Amino acid sequence: MKVKNQVQLITYPDSMGGDLQKLNHVLDKYFPGLFQGGIHILPPFPSSGDRGFAPLTYLEIEPKFGSWEDLKRIGDKHAILLDLMVNHISAKSYYFQDFLKKGRKSDYSDLFITMDKIWPEGNPPREEMDKVFLRRTDPFSDFTIEKTGKVERVWTTFGKTTPSEQIDFDMTSPIARQLLSEFMTNFSNNHVKIVRLDAVGYVIKKIGTTCFFVEPDIYRFLEWISELAHSLDIEILPEIHADYTTQIKLAEKGYWIYDFILPFTVLDALLNKTSKRLKHYLEVRPHNQFTTLDCHDGIPIKPDLNGFYQSEDARKVVDICLKRGANLSLIFSPKHKDPDGFDVHQIRCAYYSMLDCNDSAYLAARAIQFFTPGIPQIYYVGLLAGKNDLDAVARTGEGREINRHNYSVDEIDWEVQRPVVKKLIELIEFRNTHPAFNGNFELVESTDHEITLTWNNQGLFAKLYVDFLNISAGISYLDPNSKKIQMLDL
Ligand code: BGC
Repeated sequence: MKVKNQVQLITYPDSMGGDLQKLNHVLDKYFPGLFQGGIHILPPFPSSGDRGFAPLTYLEIEPKFGSWEDLKRIGDKHAILLDLMVNHISAKSYYFQDFLKKGRKSDYSDLFITMDKIWPEGNPPREEMDKVFLRRTDPFSDFTIEKTGKVERVWTTFGKTTPSEQIDFDMTSPIARQLLSEFMTNFSNNHVKIVRLDAVGYVIKKIGTTCFFVEPDIYRFLEWISELAHSLDIEILPEIHADYTTQIKLAEKGYWIYDFILPFTVLDALLNKTSKRLKHYLEVRPHNQFTTLDCHDGIPIKPDLNGFYQSEDARKVVDICLKRGANLSLIFSPKHKDPDGFDVHQIRCAYYSMLDCNDSAYLAARAIQFFTPGIPQIYYVGLLAGKNDLDAVARTGEGREINRHNYSVDEIDWEVQRPVVKKLIELIEFRNTHPAFNGNFELVESTDHEITLTWNNQGLFAKLYVDFLNISAGISYLDPNSKKIQMLDL
């Protein structure tokens, strides 16, 4: 079993110290044995954009971050999780560069989606495009082929630039599958244990559909890649920002899924001082999930919360977040906005700042996350109770940089001495080691301004109580060694 029921860290290769060697040092010095659940290292490969999410290859590590040897050294002590951008590859990759030179004569031509593959007539009619779940104004980019001078239009779901740096794969082509197999095999050779299938919802493009989570084709792709992964002793984690019903279907098929509803739900409870919606959610959600409050993207809103929230409730939380410095990413297609025009895709922010840097509220939020069934992930900025990095947003023009601060070792040295970080480390240790978390979960009945969550395992228990009116939280538990009831105040 690669996935352990313990806390996992998410970090960029260069955000805790500066490179992989420093990351290893920081983990050993400040967080020894803490991330028993593993480390998700955000893309450490050579990349031409989107902070690693436009990889040129997976066979090399970006030299300024280090080497596969450095990564394996971290892997000796922690299960390593890496991203595989199954939907796209860099425009600067060898494969796309070869296509740019030779066009349809390139050995890699079939790796990409030229427009005629989807719409043999040429450009898609507007009404077809309106159905597509868009991540940029138009999901394609034009490139001129060196040899022929012909302009080729290829599918590009993502990318801030024109033309895009992220070129979609044609997952129906044998060559794309062969390439992914090579990348996965290389992961396995380098002891990678879990692979996050980045943006996997976009891999199937089909005329007349949203081109997002196209059923049943998407299941066939997932079955193929999960079989491949398991043959290499790798666990997969599909990353899909879809509405709740889609996530449920995946969970029912036995896939790990991300809990992209919890971050908003916990925030809503703390900001609006009501546990009503949080409790409703905890009653119905599946347990085979990776839980997060924060990551390198924003707090998910649409489509993740579709069907779960009235837009006016979501709007209230969004407004508070904006006042506290957040910025927003929006839904592009009119058809995928709410009927009243509500169109927030994600709230970009540091979670700690959204709780007004209130230590009690922040620790209560983390405790709720850790008591919610699933594998808890903690993002490095969250681990250090970091604040919005508004300078980075101004400097780069990228809204998500608000929550992507790069910490030097000296900064980390200072941050870990703050009481809120010390307490959080204690909480992580508790979540990792108390045997109750391998038992049964219960949401205990309580009023709408509080919540009580318990875990029981053969008489050993851990119980979290949060009061949303006064923003206070505490944990009581039966100590496995002394057999006495103890308290962990937050
Ligand atoms: C990642 C984003 C990235 C996108 C394209 C995702 O969902 O989390 O950071 O921009 O995929 O790769």
